[in-house]
Amino acid sequence: MEPQTPTSRRVLVAKPRGYCAGVDRAVVAVEKALEQYGAPVYVRKQIVHNTHVVKTLEAKGAIFVEETEEVPEGEIVVFSAHGVSPAVHSEAQQRKLRTIDATCPLVTKVHNEAKRFAGQDYGILLIGHEGHEEVEGTAGEAPEHIQLVDGLGSVDGIQVKDPEKLVWLSQTTLSVDETVETVARLKERFPTLIDPPSDDICYATQNRQVAVKEIAAQSQLVIVVGSENSSNSKRLVEVAKDHGAAASYLVDNATFIQDEWLDGVTTVGVTSGASVPEELVEQVLARLAQHGFGEVEEVESVRESMRFSLPHELRKDLRAS
Ligand code: SF4
Repeated sequence: MEPQTPTSRRVLVAKPRGYCAGVDRAVVAVEKALEQYGAPVYVRKQIVHNTHVVKTLEAKGAIFVEETEEVPEGEIVVFSAHGVSPAVHSEAQQRKLRTIDATCPLVTKVHNEAKRFAGQDYGILLIGHEGHEEVEGTAGEAPEHIQLVDGLGSVDGIQVKDPEKLVWLSQTTLSVDETVETVARLKERFPTLIDPPSDDICYATQNRQVAVKEIAAQSQLVIVVGSENSSNSKRLVEVAKDHGAAASYLVDNATFIQDEWLDGVTTVGVTSGASVPEELVEQVLARLAQHGFGEVEEVESVRESMRFSLPHELRKDLRAS
């Protein structure tokens, strides 16, 4: 028997979703650098974790490399929104590269906290995902003081030099709820553990999680647009499942949607990670419309107005031209 198609099908679109201020700044920085200096412009690592954005910039003349040693001497290199360690800055200097640092200011804030606490000889428990570029960059600020805590499961194995002089910091794109649990467990082990001076999980990550919770509670399925290597996008899938959605999937674009996901579903929630351009969400909505999801409602949970100015190296040259 053919699966029945419900007669009334609707889409709830979370707001805020998609580009945050740090991603917007980083992508515009590469675009402006290409206009100002001409192609090629080298970019260390993916400027933001989104396949479509990377391919679009490649088509305009950006060359993505894994390490600064792949950039010819004297050329321009942009550092990604996730930040880099001081060692990477030194390597670039040695190779006489002209650098544009597109590290998100909210990641830089965590670097500065790490430097300050390390300077005061604190042990730093950095909650984050092993191997993520942001964590590597932050840990590189004070490797002898920083220890990675990759989720609740790793808390019991942590050994510290001085349990009385300990602070926790975190990656900017974690699940808020999971981090609260990890910190609670850390405090059971280390009762005098100090909190960071302000939230390290950034406003955009927090707001997108608040927004997805609201639509998840009313949706049978939540589609999150985002790439597999995007930490904040993957967290949205987990948060959606934890807050009422029977199913949630991460899709790089509309072609990843499988028809059977929609069988028997009347309400689909849609959101997107902080590195996702809106056109990819529009394509998902068009695909859903083909399946009878014609009614689209935007559910706004939080208003956002954050903006960051372009990296100063670039602003200087743009002003002079
Ligand atoms: S997700 Fe947060 S920390 Fe990352 S670039 Fe966006 S605003 Fe910055």
